[in-house]
Amino acid sequence: MNIDEQKIPQATAKRLPLYYRFLEHLHATGKQRVSSTELSDAVKVDSATIRRDFSYFGALGKKGYGYNVHYLLSFFRKTLNQEEVTKVFLIGVGNLGTALLKYNFSKGENTQIVAAFDIDSRVIGKEIGGVEVYHMNEMQSVKKSNDAAVAILTVPSSAAQESAEKIVEAGVKGILNFTPARLTIPDHVRIHHIDLSVELQTLVYFLKNYPLPT
Ligand code: ATP
Repeated sequence: MNIDEQKIPQATAKRLPLYYRFLEHLHATGKQRVSSTELSDAVKVDSATIRRDFSYFGALGKKGYGYNVHYLLSFFRKTLNQEEVTKVFLIGVGNLGTALLKYNFSKGENTQIVAAFDIDSRVIGKEIGGVEVYHMNEMQSVKKSNDAAVAILTVPSSAAQESAEKIVEAGVKGILNFTPARLTIPDHVRIHHIDLSVELQTLVYFLKNYPLPT
């Protein structure tokens, strides 16, 4: 992100992709303005938070008018680097890795998986979802021609630390960790965790303990 992280709180920065996706949808349907209440219903963030978030980047809604969709969209494009394609590596072409390669989440978003890596000779050299699979040892050389900013980690937990080290050695600065392993990496590398079973357990816990009014 280009945004000045000193000024925009991380919690706000995290919501930007959410806003961006919905605004793109509105723009595609020809809508020119949107109220914070409409946005709130769509992205499930309360409207006071939305107004505060938007005020950080100088988008002040007008009473009775709302926000200008085009203005917000061009701001988000710049802020989220949507004008550039962010290249992504995927490490570990098992079931989950293959699913992510085939899902091609990049369509319409400006992120693209450009190469995948594994140690299993049965997948190395194959093309999955239009992405070539290389041996782990080739990561440094692949990065020279395809400069990925981020790596998605979908290896087994037991291989997560050594794979993360290879990612760091190759010079990738962000890791999206789908394994439950907690990794030791240098401070200059940012890591985000997506643990699907923890997310599910949390949802079940909330359903049990904080049931929503029916
Ligand atoms: P499956 O075992 O059916 O492929 P899975 O997703 O459960 O599915 P895992 O055992 O979790 O498989 O392994 C995921 C992928 O990570 C496999 O393709 C495996 O070859 C790869 N892998 C394992 N160790 C490493 C490693 N050290 N570096 C890179 N890739 C690895």
